[in-house]
Amino acid sequence: MFDLVIRGGTVFDGRGSAGTVADVAIADGMVAEIGRVTDRARQTIDAAGRFVAPGFIDGHTHLDAQIFWDPYAGSLTEHGVTSAVMGNCGFTLAPGAQEQADLIIRSIERAEDMSREAIQRGVPWRWTTFEQYLDAVEALPKALNVAAQCGHSAVRASVMGERAFTDPAADDEIRAMRQVVTRAIAAGALGFSTSRSKAHLTKAGDPVASRIASWDEVSAIVSGLGDLGAGIFQLAPERPAEPEQMADYQARLSALAAASGRPVTFMVGGQQEQLDAVDGVIAAGGAAIGQVHVRGFENVFGFRTSLPFDRLPLWKSVRALPLAQQRERLRDPGLRARLVAEAESGRYGQAVGAEIGVPQFERILVIDPAQPAERSVAELGRQHGVSPVEVMIDWSLRTGFEQLFRQPISEISPDLVLAGLRHPNTVVAASDSGAHISQILDSNIPTYFLSHWVRESGTFSWAEGIRMLTGVPARVWGLDRRGVLEPGSYADVVVFDPSTVGSAAPAVRNDLPDGGPRLAQSAVGIDALLVNGQLVSAGPVRTGATPGVLLRSGKTQR
Ligand SMILES: [Zn+2]
Repeated sequence: MFDLVIRGGTVFDGRGSAGTVADVAIADGMVAEIGRVTDRARQTIDAAGRFVAPGFIDGHTHLDAQIFWDPYAGSLTEHGVTSAVMGNCGFTLAPGAQEQADLIIRSIERAEDMSREAIQRGVPWRWTTFEQYLDAVEALPKALNVAAQCGHSAVRASVMGERAFTDPAADDEIRAMRQVVTRAIAAGALGFSTSRSKAHLTKAGDPVASRIASWDEVSAIVSGLGDLGAGIFQLAPERPAEPEQMADYQARLSALAAASGRPVTFMVGGQQEQLDAVDGVIAAGGAAIGQVHVRGFENVFGFRTSLPFDRLPLWKSVRALPLAQQRERLRDPGLRARLVAEAESGRYGQAVGAEIGVPQFERILVIDPAQPAERSVAELGRQHGVSPVEVMIDWSLRTGFEQLFRQPISEISPDLVLAGLRHPNTVVAASDSGAHISQILDSNIPTYFLSHWVRESGTFSWAEGIRMLTGVPARVWGLDRRGVLEPGSYADVVVFDPSTVGSAAPAVRNDLPDGGPRLAQSAVGIDALLVNGQLVSAGPVRTGATPGVLLRSGKTQR
């Protein structure tokens, strides 16, 4: 008698083998048998005509805070993700005692667009060390598995206090940081992360704590991973414009990876130079994995979250009001004309990172699932004889402010996206889930990848596409017996309809601990999701089960 049998689906092993029609029997959270299963089971899922694959793995998330109030990790589980790695880019909630929470959040709130109010309300800060944070995450009810990396900005703030944002570290402080990180990894953190990216600023416009660190400080900490013989080194990379500076950065990174012997991983972000950096590290004898996206980056926005206009003074004053009052103001012709004028010719300043860029009305598209060819607000303005800003206002008023728009942050040529996906040392990992909650929406990477690059374009076979979302990331992050479906593996399973798998339209949900909004997106064609053998969702319906565990490095994971 098995706990559960998934019957008659086409089963993929996550290792790239072609799918075969088989039953998958699950007992005690593990895959017990794959083949023709004749024994009875307490629960049966009919998967005829469906694909059965290992649950997807997302290696680049910022769920560190969200996982405390949202056991389903927002849209991630809706898109078939059963394991997520958090603590990327140096941004973690530990180490650091509650008195230091302010300093720690300072590095996160703007750089990752995570709400300070939501963190303060939703996270019971009961740790000082990273080990205690791991225990806190382990104790949380979770629908999916999570793994954590230890982040440099928190490490620096916990060791140096306020000086973390201004000063180079003294030798004894570097030693202390190295020890803190080594202990975190010995306790099960997957690795150490940092940011060297100019996109990562505090609200005051200063660099986040990790960016004050010298390369020697980074090297000292990463060489601690080397001495321990464990842990991955993740960083938000330097992206200097000057070729000499890029060469200098590449040389430093390659030398550190080779000397420490630890794998280094970073987002490629559609830049050939960053793909070259992956090759450079490998040529120098190190190990590197580039994290690649499956399309360009884009902002998604609307009245219920943020607008490009929000930083202009008149808009700011209107947008501070409740939506019902905004509606009234927008119907006042005089005020409306001034808002339109300000939006058309106001001084926007510069957007950094994933912040919503200066509006380019030819490139702002109206998201409308009923219109297969999306139109720009500029085009609609010409058609209706009004300003593109008025198009945005009118469409929003007409939909009760539900209307969302999209604008590219960086357009990456399909050739470059493909070069990233095909590179032998890359992994699909760029969702940033848990962060940028009013700016971007990339939790749907797995279903977008399968619908676009596998089903529609046929660039990758189903077996290869599934391997890229499962077996490959499991190997990169050392997730033992996950990302594969075979007897003895953990029963993290996604059942989906290959003819429809994809994404629904984006929406806004006001479900943060302080009632604040976040962007959300559901999937299409995901029939069932199992984590550690338990059904966490059947179609769009969540079962309420929370079988997810904390994945600790080097430890049996249940
Ligand atoms: Zn990140």
